[in-house]
Amino acid sequence: MKNKFDIIIIGGGHAGIEAAHIAANMGHATALITQKKSTIGSMPCNPSIGGLGKGHIVYEVSALGGLMPELCNNTYLSARMLNTSKGPAVQGLRLQIDKYAYQKKAESTLSNLENLTIIEETVAGLLIENSQVTGIKTLDGTIWHAQAVIVTTGTFLRGTIHVGLVKTDGGRNDEAASNDLSRSLTEVLGGQLGRLKTGTPPRLLTSSIDFSKIEQQTAMQLDNLYSYETTEISEKVPCYITTTNETTHDIIKDNFEKSAMYNDSLQGIGPRYCPSIEDKVGRFPSRNSHHVFVEPEGGDLSEVYPAGLSTSLPLEIQEKYIRSIQGFENAIISQPGYAVEYDFIQPTQLKATLETKKIKGLFCAGQVNGTTGYEEAAGQGLIAGINAALLCQKKDPFILSRTESYIGVMIDDLVTLGVDEPYRMFTSRAERRLLLRQDNVFARLMPYAHKLNLISLDLYKRFQADQKIVEKSVELIKKNRLNTLFKTFNSIDFTEVIKQECKKLILEKLTEKNISCDRLTPRMLLSIHAEIRYDGYIQKEQKEVAKALKYQSLVIPPNFQFLSMPGLRVELQEKLERFRPTTIAQAELIPGMTPAAISLLIFNINIVQTK
Ligand code: FAD
Repeated sequence: MKNKFDIIIIGGGHAGIEAAHIAANMGHATALITQKKSTIGSMPCNPSIGGLGKGHIVYEVSALGGLMPELCNNTYLSARMLNTSKGPAVQGLRLQIDKYAYQKKAESTLSNLENLTIIEETVAGLLIENSQVTGIKTLDGTIWHAQAVIVTTGTFLRGTIHVGLVKTDGGRNDEAASNDLSRSLTEVLGGQLGRLKTGTPPRLLTSSIDFSKIEQQTAMQLDNLYSYETTEISEKVPCYITTTNETTHDIIKDNFEKSAMYNDSLQGIGPRYCPSIEDKVGRFPSRNSHHVFVEPEGGDLSEVYPAGLSTSLPLEIQEKYIRSIQGFENAIISQPGYAVEYDFIQPTQLKATLETKKIKGLFCAGQVNGTTGYEEAAGQGLIAGINAALLCQKKDPFILSRTESYIGVMIDDLVTLGVDEPYRMFTSRAERRLLLRQDNVFARLMPYAHKLNLISLDLYKRFQADQKIVEKSVELIKKNRLNTLFKTFNSIDFTEVIKQECKKLILEKLTEKNISCDRLTPRMLLSIHAEIRYDGYIQKEQKEVAKALKYQSLVIPPNFQFLSMPGLRVELQEKLERFRPTTIAQAELIPGMTPAAISLLIFNINIVQTK
């Protein structure tokens, strides 16, 4: 085996496999070096992909030729659209996944990629010459060279696992921590890494649960999954819901001091939006019950994941409170819940390409950048993989803006503001939500994928033909003032009957104009509906985007004196000094920056520039 690649990816988690897949597909000799082949694409927490904001990211990965959507389509057990009582911009597709099938499919897909070599090894250090990465060294001393290295080591850097007050070294359950690589990164980046934590619930044997006592979630009729082409969707395994109760909470309250997540034995900060059950009971004492979603772990149905019960209490307490829950009276824990604390790289040290500012060719993606979640990791892995390939090709970088994608929102937030708690995506993080819908994701991003050669020409041609019909239909409906049918209904009321009526009307208008239409898929119909229903709002958002674009081009001089800016509150001066934004668009992102403060900043930059 040669010891030189174009690109090396460290870690076969959700960021790593996405980076490896795209870099190899872009024609580069790529190596994925990961601790265990058998854990490629492993899901150490909930066996589901998508949800609010997260689902948008998976759609974007799909439009850009990524791997996660294909794996999802092949291994889902059931599908739900969340938030259907709200408009299309804030709904989110969430799939329950057979996590074992997902891992297998990930490994087999990657193993069959022409330019990719998978190496089962632990990376111990990075090789750097003249501020440029040149390769890596493994634990056994083997050296592999590369022009670009992408670090995607998740929760493994100096990982410590906590079950109750017992601490062990580990990156995940039964997997070794990466201590050497953590030391190497600290040295290379010239500073301490940060510390974060996360936790997971115990897994339960399916055979030990009394499903007759708990509620089954009703199946949903959906038209689309994450891929461009419509697929037939069927529910293979249902999910269930139960709740905690006062007895559960009393058991937890009596044992707060034994929880590593809840007492002070963990320095790292945990995910605010996926709190442990200890946190929920402690923080909301007036609530006497919390939902527990009972989700299948895999198609063999031997274990379930009780979502909402993440914990780091000792095993005997986990057993006690689990058995206080309806349907779980005889539940058997097959794997205890635990918390993991790990090092992360403060992402303000990265460019928007996810390359480190300090070391050329060194990229970081996924949980190691302070995010949490498979989808956030996949989105970053894809961008790091594309940019590592473009760097090797000596081409311009690929950067998505926050007005055209959730991936752009996430990376902009990370590299501009950094993180002080695990970062997860929500639709509320995007300022222009109406422009960033799931239905228009392919129109937003497929042209980039085509330009970068990330998708097949066949697929792009089908997309172009469909897009022409969508645009023409919207134009004809608006021009002929036939908006009423579309305007009266919110997406929740967009039932089969209404859809058929809209479809009939569109086809009539297209025929009148002699425009041939091969197909009008459910997604095309949704896009036409949204473009007409929210026309006024969309136009307003587009104007705001144009304004923001004008700001984006206004660069803040590198030595600009924020601390002595006349008229600006000291608190805001200090925040600007701390984050040192390089553009006005970045300054706008800083929490607390008001439109008046931004105007003042623009005014002062103009004064400096005209001096
Ligand atoms: P990972 O999926 O962790 O993959 C890292 C990969 O790097 C692994 O394959 C590992 O073997 C490999 N690796 C590490 N070090 C080396 C090395 N030195 N050499 C070679 N290979 C190496 N997400 C949520 O959204 N909500 C949650 O509540 C949640 N809870 C979690 C609880 C636990 C206990 C854990 C472990 C994770 C949890 N997650 C949660 C996070 C979710 O698992 C991650 O966000 C996601 O897997 C991150 O993907 P990644 O690719 O960045 O890293």
